[in-house]
Amino acid sequence: MQQEVNILVVEEDNAAAEVLESSLKSVGFQVWIAKNPQEGLTMLGTSNFPVIITELRSPRMNGVQFTREAHKISPSVNVLVLTGYSFISSAIEAMEAGAYGYITKPLNSSEIRITVERAVERFFLLSTSDDKDYLVDLAIKDGLTGLFNRRYFNELINIEIKRLSRSPASLSLLMLDIDNFKNYNDTKGHQAGDELLKGAAKILKSSVRSVDMVCRYGGEEFIIILPQTDKSAAQIIAERVRVQIGLYLPTTVSIGVSTFPDDSRETEQLIKKADNALYQAKQTGKNKWCAAQ
Ligand code: GH3
Ligand code: MG
Ligand code: MG
Repeated sequence: MQQEVNILVVEEDNAAAEVLESSLKSVGFQVWIAKNPQEGLTMLGTSNFPVIITELRSPRMNGVQFTREAHKISPSVNVLVLTGYSFISSAIEAMEAGAYGYITKPLNSSEIRITVERAVERFFLLSTSDDKDYLVDLAIKDGLTGLFNRRYFNELINIEIKRLSRSPASLSLLMLDIDNFKNYNDTKGHQAGDELLKGAAKILKSSVRSVDMVCRYGGEEFIIILPQTDKSAAQIIAERVRVQIGLYLPTTVSIGVSTFPDDSRETEQLIKKADNALYQAKQTGKNKWCAAQ
């Protein structure tokens, strides 16, 4: 069963508090609202909060002071500060004082959820082993492989694409599907199939950079987001992944590659192009990659 995770929000503005509350509740977090920093610090002392989100505008206490006080009460809490685009420098000051990150206003549900989920994940990664089960339970991870799940992939890709719309950078997607997996299951058994999926997850993670996001997209399908990666670099990575899988596992993969902005500037279309390229790889012999065109 999923462990209950409490998030504390310090926000005087009711409308903003409501947005935060509904965004976080929709992914299963328990949300507590404090009306001012003092009340927030008092509540922090009464329960186990992995994450506290606080506004910076309060005349009573600035973000730097708040972060320091919060860490005196709960050294492991991750402080996230709310800030307008024009005040990011004060968020940075708070981070220098130990805050974990910031969320920008006007508030955006995906940004709220992603930032908080990462902060929560960090909390449990750093905490005692008893809490580690949480990692598997957390709604962003796939239970078998430990990779990001499909729902979380959709959030991640949307955020990355939104970021890119303001910059000239590129991004690529690798859509992978294990070849003849049904046959593997049928001859070796479902459990051996599960082990193969776990092995594939490990190899995928170790073949890419830490900034790349490896997700389990479906049964034996994976998708990897490669930020700052153009078409030709993505093809080199696809080939590396293909070779590594073939070397270390008793199977092969087919891969479809698509690139922003070359193939599309839209998330859905970009995924579809990767999927089509994967289909082409399957149709033309498997154990290979094809790039979208
Ligand atoms: P292709 O090369 O065209 O991709 O053929 P395939 O056999 O890999 O593809 P197909 O889609 O026919 O079969 C996928 C199989 O993956 C069927 C399903 O039983 C198996 N599968 C899906 N999820 C899991 C899982 O979690 N564990 C195991 N062991 N098998 C799974
Ligand atoms: Mg498949
Ligand atoms: Mg397959």
